[in-house]
Amino acid sequence: MIKEIIYKGIAASPGISIAKAYIFTRSNFEVDIEFLNYSETEKEIKDFQNALEFSSKELNKIRLLSYEKIGEKNSMIFDAQLEILNDKFFIATILARIEKEKRTASFIFDEELSKLGQVLLSSQDEYLRERFSDINDIRNRVIRNMKREKLVSKVDEYSIIIAHELTPADTILFSKRKVQGYATDKGGTTSHAAIISRALRVPAVVGMKDIAKNITSGDLIVIDGFNGVIVKNPTEKSLRNYKKKLEELREYEKKLNETIDLPSETIDGKQIELSANIEFDEEIDFVVNTGHCGIGLYRTEHLFLEAGDFPSEERQLEEYSHIATVTFPNNVTIRTYDIGGDKLLPHSEKEDNPFLGWRGIRICLDRVDIFKEQLSALLRASGKKNVKIMFPMISSVDEIVKAKKILAEVKKDLDEHKVAYDKKIEIGIMIEVPSAYFLADELAKEVDFFSIGTNDLIQYILAVDRGNEFISSLYCAFHPAVLRAIKSVTQAAHRNKIKISVCGEMASDRLATAVLVGLGIDELSVVPSVFPEIKQVIRKINFADAKKLCEEILLLPTEEKIRTKIESFYKKKNLL
Ligand code: PEP
Ligand code: MG
Repeated sequence: MIKEIIYKGIAASPGISIAKAYIFTRSNFEVDIEFLNYSETEKEIKDFQNALEFSSKELNKIRLLSYEKIGEKNSMIFDAQLEILNDKFFIATILARIEKEKRTASFIFDEELSKLGQVLLSSQDEYLRERFSDINDIRNRVIRNMKREKLVSKVDEYSIIIAHELTPADTILFSKRKVQGYATDKGGTTSHAAIISRALRVPAVVGMKDIAKNITSGDLIVIDGFNGVIVKNPTEKSLRNYKKKLEELREYEKKLNETIDLPSETIDGKQIELSANIEFDEEIDFVVNTGHCGIGLYRTEHLFLEAGDFPSEERQLEEYSHIATVTFPNNVTIRTYDIGGDKLLPHSEKEDNPFLGWRGIRICLDRVDIFKEQLSALLRASGKKNVKIMFPMISSVDEIVKAKKILAEVKKDLDEHKVAYDKKIEIGIMIEVPSAYFLADELAKEVDFFSIGTNDLIQYILAVDRGNEFISSLYCAFHPAVLRAIKSVTQAAHRNKIKISVCGEMASDRLATAVLVGLGIDELSVVPSVFPEIKQVIRKINFADAKKLCEEILLLPTEEKIRTKIESFYKKKNLL
């Protein structure tokens, strides 16, 4: 008899789906290390040439598709890969070595590619250096074709993806296949793949440690993103329960949606601006058709992820103008590239400590040409006066001064070319690095608004990697140090007469709503899927009570005591 098995992980994106599993593996193919005997050489060469031809065909197809979806310029990576496969000198060297050394084609091909990789890595040209990991892709493609293994280029539609690990790029790409959920061995709740799942409103469970080994493609599974659970081979009874829950969920959402256009204010009349976090295009529908709200955080990394490179100024202008137009008359806060950390492209250079590395504003200040293109596109899209610019990962006053100086240069250039833009465009920064919290007063004097990025602020204050499943229990939004930091930054913002919002995932946690309101936060920017729920909590509390709750919890020494106090507040108000 088939037995129901329940696997537990970390709940990363709410929701329930019942569907077939699809195991996604990104294979690294082994090379054959043995020697050939004389009679095998000819066949080996033929097989290698066939594999090259087959790989070129595959790449050509991918390139065509890529042209259609993201345009010629952004598909250049495939041209570069094809050039290697068609490089006569490179291939001739491999063929000569197979004949002479009597080693397998995969062994020699791997060695020659590694040499090429080393050349690229030591190049002065950054673009060439970044091509290093594309080499691995070619390597796997050709060796796979030599082994006559199939290309796994897409996942089954309507399936739940099970993987050891998913990159943000995987998550975005698979979303086009109407994926019903994601479960991964690795990752924490604020890893970027988890955030993307929430943004897509697809249930996700992460940190499952070895789920990828225990499930087979085609297994019927239930993913419960509320409780961080995967049920393999659910019994009739479990299926009935989950189907019932799904129905209740739909009913609940319907009811919540009825309150969506009511004001976002507490019972005693304190207005809390409620806006949406937008990660990529599919979510804009929510802002336009359902939330009728502004955008408190528009992440621009997806443009980079989709294109595989920095998109052109014109492509950006098109995107930002569209966002500004559909959001109007509400505001949209567009954040400049926050590339790095876990938002790496597959071919980005690897760093030992990416979260402490070349990330966010640091990249932009080093790559002024790219930064200027983004700022120029943002300014050109600001004609409706509803665009705000936000810089991520600011850790010193110097950085914001430099960023503003570059912005001033871009404005001057637009002025000279008589290009219109919002002369009073507001500039803000993310508060997500501890040094920014210590410098909050000085930073507030330089900008028009603050937005607290709790995902990073928590990881940096507590020294707990946001994506590491082994220490996920230490990643605590209600840690006293975190709450005191939020309080103190909020006071600094208000002392300097600027507004402050929270756009990290903490703002999307209904248990944190009363706390953030009580701490004095002016705006919450949340993932669209929880927007109605958060509005409902705001409308059911008194600002005076929330303030009192915060006065009490700010005196408590541990997260456990704080959480208990908040939960009892919610229970009393019937909010749990
Ligand atoms: C944050 O750090 O809270 C944030 C909103 O930015 P990201 O998750 O994109 O790093
Ligand atoms: Mg951040």
